[in-house]
Amino acid sequence: MTSFVFPRIHLGTLLRVPGDAEASGEVTGLRYEQGGEPLTMQFAEAAPFEVSVNSLQGNEFWLQGSFEPTLELDCARCLRPVLLPLSLRLGTLLRYDPAAEAPYLEEAETGEEILVFGDPDLDLSNYLAESTLLESPLSVLHDPECKGLCQVCGHDLNTGPCEHRAAVPIEDHSERLLEAQHEGTQHARQNPFMALRGLELPDE
Ligand SMILES: [Zn+2]
Ligand SMILES: [Zn+2]
Repeated sequence: MTSFVFPRIHLGTLLRVPGDAEASGEVTGLRYEQGGEPLTMQFAEAAPFEVSVNSLQGNEFWLQGSFEPTLELDCARCLRPVLLPLSLRLGTLLRYDPAAEAPYLEEAETGEEILVFGDPDLDLSNYLAESTLLESPLSVLHDPECKGLCQVCGHDLNTGPCEHRAAVPIEDHSERLLEAQHEGTQHARQNPFMALRGLELPDE
């Protein structure tokens, strides 16, 4: 496994003297935890991040910035890889709580999310991973006109018809098409992105 760079911002000074702090860098993936389970999110290329944090009052801060991960997903119909560059705007309240072992997101009464942290060397892995998942589409097509795969032999119909498609009688043919479309959506629902396997959000 390649070595991971953890996206961090150091807030030790801010905890003593109000002001602002900045951090930037690149990550090829994120290693994070969800429900105590260690998970990994891999990007197709190095993903740049940039964050700045300002003091508000007391133990509260405002974090903003950007994150640009490129995901590699599978076309929902033909399964060929699709690169999907995302451009995320980040913005969240932060609260320092020395009792917090690992940073976690908490919902305030206002419905806003607050990132609670206890280590002044704030690891943004969880936050960036969750922000990425929120912006990820449930399924993608490599082309809106993608013809998918032959249901019989798996031939990629984007490259031309196969013998099965040609041999199927007209009525059956339209039935098969419906089936194919149905299976396409099923696949998209159950298996939104193979590249992000293991990143399911926790059950609500
Ligand atoms: Zn496709
Ligand atoms: Zn075929």
